[in-house]
Amino acid sequence: MTKTNTLILIEHDRQQVKRPSLHAVTAAQQLGGDYSLLLLGSAVGEMAKSLLGYGAASLLVADHAELAEPLADRYALVIADAFQKCGATTLLGTSSTFSKDILPRAAALLDAPMLTDVMTIEGNGNSFTRPINAGSMIATVQLGSERRVLSIRASAFAAPTGNTAVSPIEQLAVDAALLPNGMQFVSREERISDRPDLTEARVVVGGGRPLKDKETFDRLVGGLADALGGAIGATRAAVDTGLAPNDYQIGQTGKVIAPDLYIALGISGAIQHLAGIKDSRVIIAINKDPDAPIFQMATYALVGDVHQVVPELIEALRDRE
Ligand SMILES: Cc1cc2nc3c(=O)[nH]c(=O)nc-3n(C[C@H](O)[C@H](O)[C@H](O)COP(=O)(O)OP(=O)(O)OC[C@H]3O[C@@H](n4cnc5c(N)ncnc54)[C@H](O)[C@@H]3O)c2cc1C
Repeated sequence: MTKTNTLILIEHDRQQVKRPSLHAVTAAQQLGGDYSLLLLGSAVGEMAKSLLGYGAASLLVADHAELAEPLADRYALVIADAFQKCGATTLLGTSSTFSKDILPRAAALLDAPMLTDVMTIEGNGNSFTRPINAGSMIATVQLGSERRVLSIRASAFAAPTGNTAVSPIEQLAVDAALLPNGMQFVSREERISDRPDLTEARVVVGGGRPLKDKETFDRLVGGLADALGGAIGATRAAVDTGLAPNDYQIGQTGKVIAPDLYIALGISGAIQHLAGIKDSRVIIAINKDPDAPIFQMATYALVGDVHQVVPELIEALRDRE
């Protein structure tokens, strides 16, 4: 197997690679040395072809029916095995629900320290910055171990530029008899939506507690998102009160986004929510309280009632089409 310095875990939705996970390629380039990509799943041959132009020393593919679902105990074992076989010293992924489930297990199997949410790589690849305290402080951390597991914030690293060289594919043998059976896949509930993925969207509309009920949330937040071709997000208060599903949550305990435009509707601007939106290029906030903390971070502030302003905004955008 081709030797490498950094092994990058690629994330996908069984159809295509999730673009934020490719930002780890840029991080690997900053770390220096060779890097290889690792793709796990079942019948991922077509997807593998889309990963050949990123300058990797190799593309390792673990393709097996028993890996069809990302069960963390199985994936961690296969990842740790691949890591050891290719002689890597850094296992690299992108901060996401998927990597939060899997990478710590791989780190435990490798007996390696793990650092999450890395924002910058400094000091010849030995020093890292990451947010702490809901993003209100930035810590600089050095790892004293030769082996390490890192997850990066995709929004903090640029998308990789394509490379004309074609990486060789290396198939990883998967022995189903050795895979752990501690977890069983039961079912998956998926929302089929034409809207872009929250972490990849260029425009995101977020809704807060004053959206009152699910119907109003869908009509105002969903309506404005659709008028702009954007994704929907929500505060934890909106999720906890049942206005929006859990995977819409943005913030410290939700998703971290970095769209070109974030529109906050009836959102106070709690530090835990701001932790998820602060890398947005432009923030428009609509809130009826002129002293709402969100206005301190907003690029444009509109003091008004979302129930009145947002329908007018949606209508104006539709008239423009
Ligand atoms: C450990 C921890 C982790 C957390 N993680 C997260 C997280 O990941 N994400 C997150 O979002 N929160 C998180 N929270 C919760 C966070 O502290 C806030 O409670 C939450 O973000 C508030 O949501 P909100 O802005 O929707 O609601 P509120 O704080 O109730 O604010 C509603 C805002 O809407 C305005 N408003 C009211 N009516 C109208 C109207 N008609 N028109 C316009 N504006 C109106 C009000 O002026 C107010 O500013 C966390 C909390 C803790 C303790």
